[in-house]
Amino acid sequence: MARYIFVTGGVVSSLGKGLSSASLAYLLKSQGYKVRLRKMDPYLNVDPGTMSPFQHGEVFVTDDGAETDLDLGHYERFTNISAKQSDNITTGKIYSDIIKKERKGGYLGKTVQVIPHVTDQIKNFIKNDIKDEDFVICEIGGTVGDIESLPFLEAIRQFSNEIGKNKTMYIHLTLVPFMKSSDEIKTKPTQHSVKELRSIGIQPDIVICRSQQSIPFDQRKKISLFCNVPIENVIETVDVRTIYEAPISFYNEKLDKQVLKHFKLKPKKIPSLKSWKKITKTLLNTKKKVNIAIIGKYVNLKDAYKSLDEALVHGGIRNNVKVNLIRVESDKLKPKQIKKIFKNVSGLLIPGGFGKRGTEGKIAAINYARKNKIPFLGICFGMQMAIIEFARNILKIKNAGSTELNKNVFPVIGLMHEWNKNGKLVKGTDKTLGGTMRLGSYEAKLRHNSLVNKIYKSKSIFERHRHRYEVNNYLKDKFEKKGLIFSGMSPDDKLPEIVELNNHPWFVGVQFHPEFKSRPFSPHPLFSSFIKAAKLK
Ligand code: GLN
Repeated sequence: MARYIFVTGGVVSSLGKGLSSASLAYLLKSQGYKVRLRKMDPYLNVDPGTMSPFQHGEVFVTDDGAETDLDLGHYERFTNISAKQSDNITTGKIYSDIIKKERKGGYLGKTVQVIPHVTDQIKNFIKNDIKDEDFVICEIGGTVGDIESLPFLEAIRQFSNEIGKNKTMYIHLTLVPFMKSSDEIKTKPTQHSVKELRSIGIQPDIVICRSQQSIPFDQRKKISLFCNVPIENVIETVDVRTIYEAPISFYNEKLDKQVLKHFKLKPKKIPSLKSWKKITKTLLNTKKKVNIAIIGKYVNLKDAYKSLDEALVHGGIRNNVKVNLIRVESDKLKPKQIKKIFKNVSGLLIPGGFGKRGTEGKIAAINYARKNKIPFLGICFGMQMAIIEFARNILKIKNAGSTELNKNVFPVIGLMHEWNKNGKLVKGTDKTLGGTMRLGSYEAKLRHNSLVNKIYKSKSIFERHRHRYEVNNYLKDKFEKKGLIFSGMSPDDKLPEIVELNNHPWFVGVQFHPEFKSRPFSPHPLFSSFIKAAKLK
């Protein structure tokens, strides 16, 4: 039977619960245990799909088409275990399921309440779709003390009572700040946070203390005493230089050892940290740099392109170069400044995106990359913009555009049913935004001898999608005649998945999001190849 580890956070948000959970999962997996990671988000959105990246960072997409919190991206990258739809839940989803059931009379006239109905639903989520896993690590979003988190905390409290204390464990992550004025590390916020948790009936088994500097023994003893945890279960996590140091640091602090001890288990294998050490060393010591410009709408928010940033770093590791990201806000990109802004740039990337703002800047940047033979990678929206650029400037369709941005254009990009019905433009009718996209893993067939065929070393690939609009296949021959090759197509040959430019060192647009499948130890081939091309420039 699976053992359940609940990870909560206190004092402040953004302490790194996701990375801590992912690191622990890696350490347990590398000792021979089967692990699953889950995230419970306390907000009322049904899924993060419609949330602005400005507020919540990137929306991560799983193979089975769930739009999830970005922490699931960390989980996948650290453990190489593919996350599923059943691994992320929000309060909104829980309530929406309960209300649906209530409307159908599923509660037989009973009063529907937070306890037991909401908490039962949460417990069902925790247990659902678990087979032979040894450990299920569940991260609870938010901070202890938030009103929204309460039903989740109550549910995990009940959970241990139901399945047994020996099958559950609580890890609480807090901040241990350093006060410059008194030159001291302060444990009080941690004491208060644990007190708050205990008032709900949860006694943490391990307290992980995030700190800027190492916590002296006396302070650890204090935390142990006030928080009622053995001193060896006070684990420090000092700020790391790269996130790939986190598993090494938790191993040195014996987090995994204390977890196994709690469950009276022994490692089945000796864990290996060699690969983490190797990539940390590469990341910290590589001197050679390549400048890659990312032109997007959300560039000022650190987490908005999380997986993308990571995938570029992975591509850099593979090529032994440091990827220096130059974030350019598409809105502010005026055609006249393009030459100056991209002067020292060796590669240009346009990521996924939605909506009109900044699109002309993106199109101008693509034009520059195409003409000046600068390696270019267009992802999803970036590919769609590359199609528009080519249609306008090479095929001379001056009003070429996407119906997402303007209904009165020649739709080189459109909703499938807007342009695919007997060659006639049919308008889409679906007005709902949530859950109406092509989501998750789809196959693409790669053209023999194309650039992508060589990069992937395969005829067929599976990649994750998240978009409503598609490239209009109708003009394929015209594009190809002028050198933009549709080198990846859906198996039925209807949907363009990849385009690439002849007579250009490296110009690729993909309708999917390759960044979601890149891993530090197995960088995505497209990113490795893109960085290699940028390095050669
Ligand atoms: N907005 C575009 C679409 O819906 C692209 C989406 C994306 O880049 N993920 O098709």
